[in-house]
Amino acid sequence: STTNRLDRFISQNSTFSISDTRLLIAQKRILLDGHVAHSNQQKVTKFTYVELDGNCLQDNNPLYIMLNKPKGVVSATKDIKHSTVLDLIQHPQKNELHIVGRLDFNTTGLVLLTNDGAWSRKISLPETKLAKVYEVTLSKPLTEEYVTVFREGIYFGYEDITTKPACLEILSEYTARLSLVEGKYHQVKRMFGFFQNEVLELHRVSVGNICLEGLAEGHSRLLTQKELMTNE
Ligand code: URA
Repeated sequence: STTNRLDRFISQNSTFSISDTRLLIAQKRILLDGHVAHSNQQKVTKFTYVELDGNCLQDNNPLYIMLNKPKGVVSATKDIKHSTVLDLIQHPQKNELHIVGRLDFNTTGLVLLTNDGAWSRKISLPETKLAKVYEVTLSKPLTEEYVTVFREGIYFGYEDITTKPACLEILSEYTARLSLVEGKYHQVKRMFGFFQNEVLELHRVSVGNICLEGLAEGHSRLLTQKELMTNE
């Protein structure tokens, strides 16, 4: 959820009122992440560790997980027919997680999950310009024209938008690497659809500096501090 002011947080999470908070601060009875609070306007996020008179008012750990999604798994937290990305994760707090950028049922590769809404919003914003890199196998041969068209952008009538400049690297007659900074619904398939070229295989290898490399299909792990920092 969103960031709160300390005095509002105290009034919402204790029997004290907004105006009582000033006195609690003066009496050094509030600790934020182990430090004595000094202002009623201090920011409290859902991950701030808050103590009042030695009692814990809030203790949430941010969680960041990467998964190598196999085919035939739904990018959702619940599904009545198929297994979901959440079924592949073993973590005591896994039910707090949401998916940062969904992959289609038959798309494979890097899926990020977190309980940190501010982080996932930031990752997903086109303005953040984080590259999402895909390896694509096509049903028809590729030409240099694709590179130009993808760089200039393709008009999507349904959303009334033109796709942001995308970088296509042709690897062989039927395979390419595509780098996008946004994630519209079925974006990769629709971009190749402009050329009536069906996507046969789609695999996401990275999001920003977070790379799938070394993680076996169906496996997941926590992101490292370094992976989190390099996407700041
Ligand atoms: N673009 C698609 O068309 N499908 C995906 O799963 C991801 C990006």
